[in-house]
Amino acid sequence: MPLRPMNRDQAWLLPPTLDELLPDDHPARFVAAFVDGLDHSTWADMGIGLEGDAMGAPAYNPRALLSIWLYGFMTGIRSCRKLEAACRDQISFLWLTGWQHPDHNTLWRFYQAHRHAMRTLLKHTVRTAVGVGLVDLAVQAIDGTKVAANAAGDRTYDEAGLERLLARTDAAIQELEAQNEGGDDPPPPRLPEELHQAQVLRERVHCAMEHLTQQGLRRVNLTDEDARLMKGRQGIMPAYNAQTMVSPLDPAQASGSGMLITAADVVNTAADSAQLPPMLEESEEMTGARVPVTLADGGYHTAANLEAGARRGDVFVMPERYHPGVQGPYFKDRFIYDAATDSYVCPQGQRLPFRGLRRNNGKMPGPFRVYRASRTVCRVCPAYGVCTKDKHSGRALWIGPSDTLLRKHRQWMTTEVAKRWYARRKGLIEPVFGILKEQLGARRFLLRGLANVRAEFMMLATAFNLRVLWRAWASHQSQGPAELSLANLPARM
Ligand code: SF4
Repeated sequence: MPLRPMNRDQAWLLPPTLDELLPDDHPARFVAAFVDGLDHSTWADMGIGLEGDAMGAPAYNPRALLSIWLYGFMTGIRSCRKLEAACRDQISFLWLTGWQHPDHNTLWRFYQAHRHAMRTLLKHTVRTAVGVGLVDLAVQAIDGTKVAANAAGDRTYDEAGLERLLARTDAAIQELEAQNEGGDDPPPPRLPEELHQAQVLRERVHCAMEHLTQQGLRRVNLTDEDARLMKGRQGIMPAYNAQTMVSPLDPAQASGSGMLITAADVVNTAADSAQLPPMLEESEEMTGARVPVTLADGGYHTAANLEAGARRGDVFVMPERYHPGVQGPYFKDRFIYDAATDSYVCPQGQRLPFRGLRRNNGKMPGPFRVYRASRTVCRVCPAYGVCTKDKHSGRALWIGPSDTLLRKHRQWMTTEVAKRWYARRKGLIEPVFGILKEQLGARRFLLRGLANVRAEFMMLATAFNLRVLWRAWASHQSQGPAELSLANLPARM
C-alpha cells in the first residue's frame, strides 16, 4: 500500500475559515450560543459589564472570556496557564475567542473578579433545562463527595504541633539572623530568601493558632485553613464535602438517560446530615419548583431532617443509619402503645407504665417520656438478657418528641414502593460524581479557601449541566438542519 504524501509546509491558496474547521454540533458552538443568549439582567447579576471603557487599551470581550472558562471547565481544562495554551493551539478555543490569545493573567483577573457570581450561571442552566421540559422534576437525589483540597496532608497540625513548629521556626530565624549579623560583611540590602521564608512561616503559624482558637478546632491545615481532614477513597486527607442534588432527565425529551445538577454547594464538615434542608431550599430556588420525592442515603437520616421534610410536605426515601438494634425483636418499635392507659405493651405481653419526664438521654435533648417495666417481671422473662440486661430495674423506653415520626418513617421504608424508589438513588447520583471527577477533573480543587472552592464547584456543576444541554441540542441538530440557538432544544421544536 503506498504512503499518503505529507507536507507540513503546505501553503493554501484559499485557507479554510475557523468556522469551517469546527463541526456544526461542536460543544464550543453550544457554549458560545449559551453565553450569547444570556440577557442583560443575568450579566448584571454576575456584575459583568458588556461595555468597554472609552479610554485605555481595548479589553477582551467578556463574552469571549466567559466562553473560554465555561468550555475549559467542560473539557477538564481549569488552570489559567492551560487555558492560555489552549487559546493558542486548539481550534475550538481559537474559534471561541475569534483568534485572540488572552494570557493567563487576563483569564485569572476575569475569573477572580466574577467567580463568586457563578451560582447565577448554574441557575441559568437549570432554568433553561426546566424551561424546555428536559428535566423530570418528580424526583431528586442528594449526596456528598469528598474532594481533596489543594493542600498537603502533612501540613495539618494540632495545637501542640503548631507550638513545636513555632519553636523550631523561631530557633531557625534566630540562627539565620545571627549568621547575617556576624562577620565584617555589610548587611545585605534585602532580607535573605531563607530568612524571609522562615518569617512568612512564623506569621502563618500565628494565624493558624488564632484560627484554631477562634473556630474551636482540634487541627488546622497550614496551606488551606478552611480544609478539614476527611476520610475519602484515598484515605484521610485535607478535603471539602461537595454536596450535589440531581434530577433525572425526561427520557422523552432528552432522547436518552442522564441527570441534571439542580443544586450544588461545598461545606467543610464531613457529615452530610445538616446539608439536607439547605440543599432542598437551594434546589427549589434553582428549579423554581418543589420536587416531591427526595432520595438520600443514611448519612442524611436525622429526626430534625424528617421533621423539616414533614413541615415542607416532602417525601423522603432515606434509610436509617446502620443500627443493628433496629432489626431486633425487642427494639422499641416492637412495643405497642396503649393510649387508654398511657403505657406500652412489650412483645411478651407485659405492661410498661409511664414513669415520668426526663430532660435528655445523654445523646439527645428531650423532653423524653419514660416508660418502664417492673424489675421483677423482666428478671423472670425468657427475653431477659436480650431485651434488657439491667439488674436493678426493668426495661425502659425513652420516647422523645420525634419518635412517632421516626417510627412512621421506618414503616414507610419497609414498603415495596419505598424500596423501589430507593433502588434508583445510586443510579442517579453516582454517575454524576463519576463524570465530575473522571471527566471534568474534580478530584482536587485548584483554589484554596471555602468561598473559592465553592465558586469552583459551581463552575464544575455549570459545566456538567452545559454538557447535558449540549447533548440534547446536538441530538436535535443531528435530526436535521436548524438555526443554532438554545431555542432549538427539544421542547421548543
Ligand atoms: S424483658 Fe421485660 S420488657 Fe422485655 S420482653 Fe421481657 S418482660 Fe417485656
